[in-house]
Amino acid sequence: ETDLNALANEYMRLAYHGLRAKDQTFNTALTTSFDEKLQKVRVVPQEIGRVLLNLFNNAFYAVQQKQQQAIEGYKPEVRVSTLQLKDRVEVRVRDNGTGIPEKVKSKLFQPFFTTKPSGQGTGLGLSLSFDIVTKGHGGKLKVDSQEGKFTEFIIELPLEKLH
Ligand code: ADP
Ligand code: MG
Repeated sequence: ETDLNALANEYMRLAYHGLRAKDQTFNTALTTSFDEKLQKVRVVPQEIGRVLLNLFNNAFYAVQQKQQQAIEGYKPEVRVSTLQLKDRVEVRVRDNGTGIPEKVKSKLFQPFFTTKPSGQGTGLGLSLSFDIVTKGHGGKLKVDSQEGKFTEFIIELPLEKLH
């Protein structure tokens, strides 16, 4: 029985401090909005943690890239939120980084698809995350994004299979 509020908070900070250890100039606001009524769910915490780590690392990369464009007044932000619904729980990871171009959206979950320079990305994070959420937990992994504005990944976990 896993408290996804605690897990999401823990992994956001883990990912952030991991990145900061390598690059002390990296800086972003971290914001949270946790649903107090969120039910505990039966998941494999290390696996959902792995998914969260992938999503946070991608989000941090996206705000870092946008930061390098030196846009006046840009304030990087990575936000995690949870939501209790009737039939499922949701964990959302949102960033106001580079966003995802339309052409790229359909390829996101393909193994080895990456837009990062060689050595910086394997292209396996999202494909692995997709399998963990869908095949491993009977859930869904969705994305909403607008190029240049924001990206949000939504992990949906059905209560029926997990409670
Ligand atoms: P990798 O991070 O190694 O490139 P992923 O499977 O994690 O592989 O992501 C695949 C691609 O999806 C990335 O290279 C990037 O183009 C895009 N992507 C994923 N997350 C984001 C995000 N938060 N913002 C913008 N692009 C993203
Ligand atoms: Mg990645």
